[in-house]
Amino acid sequence: MPRPILATVYPAALSHNLERVRASAPDARVWAVVKANAYGHGIERVFDALRSADGFALLDLDEARRLRALDWRGPILLLEGCFEPRDLELCSRLGLWHTIHCNEQIDWLAAHKTQLPHRVFLKMNTGMNRLGFKPERFRAAWTRLNALPQVEEISLMQHFPDADGAKGISTQLARFEAVTHDLPGERTLSNSAAILRHSDLLAGRSDWVRPGIVLYGSAPDFPEHSAADWGLQPTMTLASKLIGIQQLAAGETVGYGSTFVAEQAMRIGIVACGYADGYPRHCSTGTPMLVNGVRCRMVGRVSMDMVTVDLTPVPQARIGSEVTLWGCARNGAVLPIDEVAQAGGTVGYELMCAVAPRVPFAPLV
Ligand SMILES: *Cc1c(COP(=O)(O)O)cnc(C)c1O
Repeated sequence: MPRPILATVYPAALSHNLERVRASAPDARVWAVVKANAYGHGIERVFDALRSADGFALLDLDEARRLRALDWRGPILLLEGCFEPRDLELCSRLGLWHTIHCNEQIDWLAAHKTQLPHRVFLKMNTGMNRLGFKPERFRAAWTRLNALPQVEEISLMQHFPDADGAKGISTQLARFEAVTHDLPGERTLSNSAAILRHSDLLAGRSDWVRPGIVLYGSAPDFPEHSAADWGLQPTMTLASKLIGIQQLAAGETVGYGSTFVAEQAMRIGIVACGYADGYPRHCSTGTPMLVNGVRCRMVGRVSMDMVTVDLTPVPQARIGSEVTLWGCARNGAVLPIDEVAQAGGTVGYELMCAVAPRVPFAPLV
């Protein structure tokens, strides 16, 4: 028998979450962001459920190739553009739309020989200070691009650093509009947090939205809002089973470092899941976990291949009992990935992206 750990992806939940995005951005076209192998879900696994999106956005050229291999003929946007000049050949061949965020990328495009001109997304750095042209350099870049025969159409793009928090989006929006108000071209402004939290301010301003995490059923602003608050459904379960049970006497400890000490006699379960499966090692005593669909708490440290759980709430648990690390249990109980992430000092994004290659995925239902 293979080790009992298993990840499951729910296509119906992906489709539901895409509809949730459309409800918040009814006038915009939707880029389904599928970078990082669809946030760890697998591009091939999410493709059918998300194919009613207007386009797919990602940043790895090989992932773009995989989408074309699925026979996706619609738009694909490279969110970071080309990494070197020869990437432009693949853009021409596969008809990829690409971001332009620096002058070097314009130089490469100017030197590129192509039969069909490219659709490009010129990115402004409105304050995130990762990729993009500063507002005062943006129009010069636009003018340069606009003069190139290699360019078919220029769209305008920016990314919000604080759409999930109290600072909001108004500073970035004002910077963007001050520079672009009289430029032609489609706009793409919003990530998940902006779509959910700032739909009023953004209505009519974004021709394309770029949701990632909402599609995968995690709240971009947890714990202020949960995924359920936003009407999102979990799209991934990480499940395993109990492979051992220990009876502890008061004063006995569990695992490396002996960090957990039993205050009284108790049963603990040993779960076939560890940090080598992508479960965060920063989770420790108190992290929630479901056993037979009943909420329990992890105890001790996460080790490479195992974690340990307090079985006090489930006296009937035995070897082989179902353990839900995050997602949905068979009895319908849900353990939000965001709660587990918070217990490990991280975000749902990181957990889904980190599911290790050794974890098998269930066939789609
Ligand atoms: C990843 C990414 C997104 C999606 O972000 P979410 O927070 O997952 O919605 C949108 N735009 C860009 C440029 C990105 O890199």
